[in-house]
Amino acid sequence: MKVIQYTPEKLQTALVSNSQYLTKVYSKYTKEEKRLLEEGFHAGQPGSLFQLITVHSDSDWILAHPEEPEDFEAFYRKPYRKTPNESQSTIYIQTIGSFGEVAAQTDQYVEWLRDYCQAFFYGLSVKLLPAVAVSETKCSFRVNSNSYNLQILTGDLLQFLKKRKPKDAFCIVGITMIDLYPKDSWNFVFGQASLTQGMGVFSFARYDDNFYKRSYAGRLKKHLQPRQEDYSVFDGYYTPPITSTLLLRSCKTMTHEIGHMFGISHCQWLSCVMQGSNHLDESDRRPLDFCPICLRKLQFAIGFNIAERYKALLHWMEEDQTQTSVKASASHTAPHFTKPTEAFNASKLWVCRCLEILEKDQ
Ligand SMILES: [Zn+2]
Ligand SMILES: [Zn+2]
Repeated sequence: MKVIQYTPEKLQTALVSNSQYLTKVYSKYTKEEKRLLEEGFHAGQPGSLFQLITVHSDSDWILAHPEEPEDFEAFYRKPYRKTPNESQSTIYIQTIGSFGEVAAQTDQYVEWLRDYCQAFFYGLSVKLLPAVAVSETKCSFRVNSNSYNLQILTGDLLQFLKKRKPKDAFCIVGITMIDLYPKDSWNFVFGQASLTQGMGVFSFARYDDNFYKRSYAGRLKKHLQPRQEDYSVFDGYYTPPITSTLLLRSCKTMTHEIGHMFGISHCQWLSCVMQGSNHLDESDRRPLDFCPICLRKLQFAIGFNIAERYKALLHWMEEDQTQTSVKASASHTAPHFTKPTEAFNASKLWVCRCLEILEKDQ
């Protein structure tokens, strides 16, 4: 196992930069905020808040894509960096197909994702567009000839999202539990985005622990060859069980992909949710949140208070379940689903440590 390690001086330049102007902007952070951001200089030491990137195999993203790491200044000078403004400050989420066995479960699941993104991109508004069935997108689809699961064509979904994108959108993100493919010759793709157009579509199908098993319930009978206009094959099609791990993986993917919409590149500095990933093992190794360098990029783009953002994330992880059930039963008699946050426990402790550093007044 290889470890990617930079000197504290190199990390300091990556975070603060050598530019006079950007150093001045950095100096406006409070003493506590700087203490938190500069924790990254000691990453990997016992008890550190931030960890080093570890490379486990040649197929890991960082070895497969050698390129210059993007420091804060490179991000700042990027021509296609995107900043939300007054007229475009809403992140829209478009659900495509089901996310659970019953419609109420889909609604609840995407609501959890929405709330999470709203805390993560603190200060921006995150809205759900009314969910659509696969048939409404008029997209092409196929049965994968190796794995026999249903797949939908990403290009068609992006065309659909383009038409749905509201005027005040900072970006629009399509999410689905159906597997995706970008062209006939490809086996599959996790997602596809157009950063210049502020849109992307991502599938969580392969985040199901059973996806790669022979017994996977999304495998269709081998001889089935549905006609292109016949979307009935999607009716009652398998959706993965809603688990805490699925929720954790979905939250990581959503925030990573929306992070790209701001123009933030893959992180090569420290262990970070913006690290690139080539496979599920690698995605699972990523932490839930940003390293200090990526955090500064996001904070610069949105302008949030760092402590307020962590408080919102903590609130989402701890959200009182009795409160949620009161809300649900007061509005209608829909079944109540408890938010499965067990997989977030380590992240919750981490956010608490960040808040301790930010609140210390010494
Ligand atoms: Zn990425
Ligand atoms: Zn990072």
